[in-house]
Amino acid sequence: MINVTKTFFPPLNEYQAQLQRIWKNEWLTNNGELYQELSAKLKEYLGVNHIIPMTNGTFPLHIALNAFANQGEVITTPFSYVATTASIVWEKCTPVFVDIHPQYLTIDETKIEAAITDKTTAILATHVYGNPCAVEEIEAIAQKHNLKAIYDAAHCFGVNYKGKSIFNYGDVSTCSFHATKLFHTGEGGAVFCQNKDIYHQLFYRHNFGHKGRLEYHGLGTNAKMSELQAAMGLSVLPYMKHIITERERVCDYYDAHLDFSQLNKLKLREHTDWNYSYYPVIFKTEAQLLEVKTRLESQNIYPRRYFYPSLEALPYVKSNTCPVARDIAQRVLCLPLYVGLENEKVIEICTFINA
Ligand SMILES: *Cc1c(COP(=O)(O)O)cnc(C)c1O
Repeated sequence: MINVTKTFFPPLNEYQAQLQRIWKNEWLTNNGELYQELSAKLKEYLGVNHIIPMTNGTFPLHIALNAFANQGEVITTPFSYVATTASIVWEKCTPVFVDIHPQYLTIDETKIEAAITDKTTAILATHVYGNPCAVEEIEAIAQKHNLKAIYDAAHCFGVNYKGKSIFNYGDVSTCSFHATKLFHTGEGGAVFCQNKDIYHQLFYRHNFGHKGRLEYHGLGTNAKMSELQAAMGLSVLPYMKHIITERERVCDYYDAHLDFSQLNKLKLREHTDWNYSYYPVIFKTEAQLLEVKTRLESQNIYPRRYFYPSLEALPYVKSNTCPVARDIAQRVLCLPLYVGLENEKVIEICTFINA
């Protein structure tokens, strides 16, 4: 069986060596040695200013919105994973959907200003498949209207834009370290920000609001990353070059063997060093997509309709019409992409798609 993705497992003995450190320390969570080491190594690897590793990639969204969106209207994209919209609603904010660019698939920055009202507090946009949003334009709009720019950068581990980490754009960026993502800690994630004050706001919220043992800065929750998660992260991190190179190989094979008279590819934004996180293809019609998907599934190959449906169609939001996102969501399919997917298999998949 070939799935859309396959979790990268580091050598077991290397994970065990990390676990041994935990047993020796007899320390499982709360700012442990491995957590500190992972934070420092990620900071260096990514070239970011501030990082707070967390227990998954959804808590960072909740916490950023809790800190900065004040239960107001949040301008967001309908073309993302459900966590993006769900976090907005969970934090008692109102999602206001702005349609996407038909080729970059990120929020259409030219349509943001028309959606701003006196209730708008933040913009939460997703760098889709690791493809950066129009960050300069979005940040100019955010500054002009005194809004926070928050990016769901769940797909963006290792992505650089104009020579620096994409996590260094906006007020806050979030990433997921889930098992299906490029870099993982099993479950896990992180929040990134540019200044000390924002860091403090986010940090205390992820640790019950604690100010020392007996005092509190304010309301908080528990989103701390444990030593067990950090052990996995420290075991996976040395393989990032291998992981990205392998995925590049698979993407190059798709590029060389797919029939692009029938399909469109994602258009990467200029000045992007991409991470090969997904291989989406856009069919001409939904019927064509469904036909190819059925054909692949009959061969035990399971691509994924990602993202589908478009999020403004969720039952718990007030729908705005986003015709581009709705249309793309019906026609986009992510093809299998992971370390160790053999060239012959990729050619086989292309043959079934091109047929
Ligand atoms: C994976 C993902 C998330 C959620 O991350 P978790 O670590 O699974 O909580 C949020 N947003 C997007 C765009 C994602 O792909």
